[in-house]
Amino acid sequence: MHVLQGNTWAINFPCAVGVYVFPDNSCLLIDSGASKAFGRRIHKVLEKRNFQVRSLFNTHAHADHCGGNRYLQETTGCEIYASPIEAAFIENPILIPYTLFSANPIKALKNKYLMPEASQVDFRVEEDELFINNTRFKILPLPGHSLEHTGIITPDDILFAGDSLISIDILKGFPFLYLADVEKHLDTLNTLKSLDVAQIFLSHGGLQDNIAELIDYNYRTLMNLLEYLLEVMDQPREREEILPLVVQKFNLPLNRNQYVLIMASLSACLSYLCNTKQAKVYTENNSLFFIKRG
Ligand SMILES: [Zn+2]
Repeated sequence: MHVLQGNTWAINFPCAVGVYVFPDNSCLLIDSGASKAFGRRIHKVLEKRNFQVRSLFNTHAHADHCGGNRYLQETTGCEIYASPIEAAFIENPILIPYTLFSANPIKALKNKYLMPEASQVDFRVEEDELFINNTRFKILPLPGHSLEHTGIITPDDILFAGDSLISIDILKGFPFLYLADVEKHLDTLNTLKSLDVAQIFLSHGGLQDNIAELIDYNYRTLMNLLEYLLEVMDQPREREEILPLVVQKFNLPLNRNQYVLIMASLSACLSYLCNTKQAKVYTENNSLFFIKRG
């Protein structure tokens, strides 16, 4: 655990956790790690420094960000904050594999990587100021990676941007973005570009120096993917036929979890291309086909 600036700290897990420490040594956590085990580790790290968990803010409902919620809520009694749609997923985690599989999921998908333990969200947050323990935070909607992904700016002017941006180092090895809504994600990149904050902290990648370059790299990663999809859709393609092409092109690792996550992102891209009239979708020969327009 180390100080980022002033009273804003971070715990460097694979999915990092933010900590804002109040003058009375109570603290606000930003996300809770990937599982109960990470929840326990967070609690231990904080106890060593005599910090008590007062509140927990979730950027979104993915298991690596809210997997420690249940443990921390039961152990510390902390109040949990999240946006309304993310709260629905946090409280009903079956919705995550359900949306990825589009029905009651196969048991293999009900695992800790996709389905965190349920926890109770006490406060639904909207874009606004948020006062916790008489301290002012700013809530910033950053949708796209998930439906209602949300960032939070601490009084030290550090934006915890969750997964709305991925570090350049990670994208170089894994040139793919997990997205639920491409159009909203493009708006989010513009929001981030016009933002005036001292520093941005990413759950995967930590503090970032060159924000403009980072946003541009994320934007170009998405554009590369969309361009490739249009390229392969110069002939009619089924969605299940496009996925292995994408996996091969971008050299992505694949297992059952990855398959449904990549398929969800691919679906988000196909929706975007159809909704912006760059592609169209139709049925023929008992199949659903996508093809580039014009
Ligand atoms: Zn995520």
